[in-house]
Amino acid sequence: MVVVLKKNTDEAQVENLVNWLKSLNIDVHRSNGEYETVLGLVGDTSHVDIDLVSSLDIVDNVTRISEPYKSANRKFHPDDTVIDINGYKIGGGNFQYIAGPCSVESEEQICSIASDVKAAGANMLRGGAFKPRTSPYAFQGMRGDGLKLLEEAKKQTGMPIVTEIMDISHLDLFENVDVIQVGARNMQNFELLKELGHTDKPILLKRGLANTMQELLMSAEYIMAGGNEKVILCERGIRTFETYTRNTLDISAVPLLKEKTHLPVIVDPSHAAGIARLVRPLSLAAVAAGADGLMIEVHNDPAHALCDGPQALTPPQFAEVVKKAEAIRSAMCD
Ligand code: PEP
Ligand code: MN
Repeated sequence: MVVVLKKNTDEAQVENLVNWLKSLNIDVHRSNGEYETVLGLVGDTSHVDIDLVSSLDIVDNVTRISEPYKSANRKFHPDDTVIDINGYKIGGGNFQYIAGPCSVESEEQICSIASDVKAAGANMLRGGAFKPRTSPYAFQGMRGDGLKLLEEAKKQTGMPIVTEIMDISHLDLFENVDVIQVGARNMQNFELLKELGHTDKPILLKRGLANTMQELLMSAEYIMAGGNEKVILCERGIRTFETYTRNTLDISAVPLLKEKTHLPVIVDPSHAAGIARLVRPLSLAAVAAGADGLMIEVHNDPAHALCDGPQALTPPQFAEVVKKAEAIRSAMCD
């Protein structure tokens, strides 16, 4: 339920209302906007008499909202959330390129890709150390050693690192990681989400392979309900009947999510397409749709990559994407 207060209301009366609502076991999130003050009521509001609240002198209007997510809801937080990652901001008009290999394979590989993608315009380095693979016989990632190599690449380039966590028991190893990624397969691992809600690190939450936008927002809500409001949403393609691509990039998720939530929304065209030559057009579509960033897989030798080579761009191809994406971004500002 959302209660919009009248302008210039008496603070004591607002306090009375808030205290009364709290006595009904309802959490009240207050947002003091420039033009209006909004109270977001979280909890079981079924026993709140909407007519009674509407009739109060200080209340302008009351709406019962159907969305079950509150913290992530733009209605309670009209302004875009801006997340600062070591000085690199994302959201609210700030755009970031996150690039790097699917998985960390060696020191030479990750450090050379890191310096190449940085030179091409990336601000953050991605690379999986713990890999969620369909086959137990496929390369599972370098695990803790891979995290150490990411730290080395960060030391050499100054780029913040983004990498996936698969099990909360590994959290201690992520101490020097700047953004913790929750992959598509773990989007509804609720125990993992709850624990990440108790950390203060930005979380890059990917949409599940077969999840709705509302389910993605509910997963963000799990993290936020624990106190961690630094969530970046990532559209990475969903399963459809189409077989020409690995997944189907749901481009409509970008403007729609941005309507529903104040959280930054980025796009991963690499896992959506599964085909390197589609990464550029999908990236440009994502930028045009209003995404706050791109996460792109880049490899110095895609043909020999241990994971996801067919969708990896080379550093020069990535540089071309950045150049074109920047042209679209400036055209959009005009
Ligand atoms: C990844 O980003 O390396 C990854 C495994 O992606 P997703 O969870 O979207 O499949
Ligand atoms: Mn991958």
